[in-house]
Amino acid sequence: MNKINIDEPAVSVREARLGSITGFNGTAKELIECSHAGKLADCSRSFSQCMGCSSGNAFCQLSMIKDAAVVNHAPVGCAGDFFGFNFVYRVGQMERNLPAATGRFFNTNIEERDTVFGAIQKLEDTVREAYKRVHPNAVFITTSCASGIIGDDMESASDKLTEELGIPVVACYCEGFKSKIWTTGFDSAYHSIVRKIVKPPKKKTNKVNIINFWGSHIFDEILNKLGYEANYIVPFSTIAQLEYISEAAATIQICPTLGTYIGAALEQIYGVPEIKTPPGYGIAGTDKWFRELGKVLNREEEIEKIIKKEHERVIPKLEEYREKLIGKTAYLTAGAAHGHAIIALLRELGLEVQGAAIFHHDPVYDNGDNTSDALAQDVQNYGDIKSYNVCNKQAYELVNILNRVKPDIMIARHGGMTLWGAKLGVPTLLIGDEQFGFGYQGVLNYADRIIETLDNKEFVSNLAKHSTMPYTKWWLQQDPFTFLGGNEHVENY
Ligand code: SF4
Repeated sequence: MNKINIDEPAVSVREARLGSITGFNGTAKELIECSHAGKLADCSRSFSQCMGCSSGNAFCQLSMIKDAAVVNHAPVGCAGDFFGFNFVYRVGQMERNLPAATGRFFNTNIEERDTVFGAIQKLEDTVREAYKRVHPNAVFITTSCASGIIGDDMESASDKLTEELGIPVVACYCEGFKSKIWTTGFDSAYHSIVRKIVKPPKKKTNKVNIINFWGSHIFDEILNKLGYEANYIVPFSTIAQLEYISEAAATIQICPTLGTYIGAALEQIYGVPEIKTPPGYGIAGTDKWFRELGKVLNREEEIEKIIKKEHERVIPKLEEYREKLIGKTAYLTAGAAHGHAIIALLRELGLEVQGAAIFHHDPVYDNGDNTSDALAQDVQNYGDIKSYNVCNKQAYELVNILNRVKPDIMIARHGGMTLWGAKLGVPTLLIGDEQFGFGYQGVLNYADRIIETLDNKEFVSNLAKHSTMPYTKWWLQQDPFTFLGGNEHVENY
């Protein structure tokens, strides 16, 4: 178990804290065995394309707090993701019938001169300007490679501004260069929230924290039936709401890659129990998740009734879908824990998962409990995955693999990856709402979308005919793992 320490200004990166990796090629079972034995070693790449950045992932969470402002202390180029998150923020508000307000995002525009003389004055001026313009209830300052390298004293600046403005001004240390695992940025955002926003509980409430992105509110119905209320965090929450997440009856993770840190932090510091079973994807996984929820909320009898009723409703329909999908092949690319969730869904539906390119691997989560390992649960429930690749969005590897396996369908979790399937004429399905596949209904939801995508093969076949590919024939004939060193390549493709 990782001991959460909120006295430290910065959270330690996942490589150091959890032993997480970004390079592996082998079977899922090998990866799990190495992880649980504490023997997991990273394989580095001698050639790498673009990756994500911790700063972007911290921003992804902090930018969606309705009454906070974010000041990105960085060169203006680091603010390139403002546009995308502003779009998600506005759409998310409209979906929730909230006024579609524009994000309150600012950048300090660190320039060459500032890297010599320091940029603290620019930071202070920007925070004051942000306060004047949008009157936030808190300001989060996200750091960057540039502010980290020049060593601006963010702690002193944020303490001074907190006193001056009378609202929390919180530094969030998320420099991109510090970690190859960009999900470290989620941990940085949560560390800053738990350290400076969350207050000790005054009482216990019937609220259950749902650590999620901006997915649909499927937990309302489940929890209301049990006499509890869902509290979706962090996107679309307020500072006042976040102050008392310490009073919740439990914390649910929609994706432990996202919420490993805050789930463990709330349990360790404030005694809010975290549901440690992997999120409920696939029938067996959902049964297990519901039973754990029942145990933690003391609703075991009610949960057994829900499971029985849902099995009666869903399993006959599932059989019909399986008949249509049996023998179809799938390849998957996604972030770690949600990728494991999609593997469960695909195999539950009878598809053969030919392989997966998953962005990183956490051998353990912050709660230190191996039962939270969704990949291990997949292998236990459905058998091994022969071709399991840990690959931080290296498109050149993915294209080479797809060109070999030619699956009936590719499933992707992130927009930038889907085009490769389409260029190769592989029907590709992108589902951004992680709650869409959750629970019993989620299996049926996925089945519908997969069938719909397979029926549209003609569309991608035409796209492929008129597309060009930047990769040469030479590369497509090479071992996809030519540039991945350090382990023996398993000849799975
Ligand atoms: S990696 Fe560094 S320079 Fe690049 S966007 Fe992230 S913080 Fe900015």
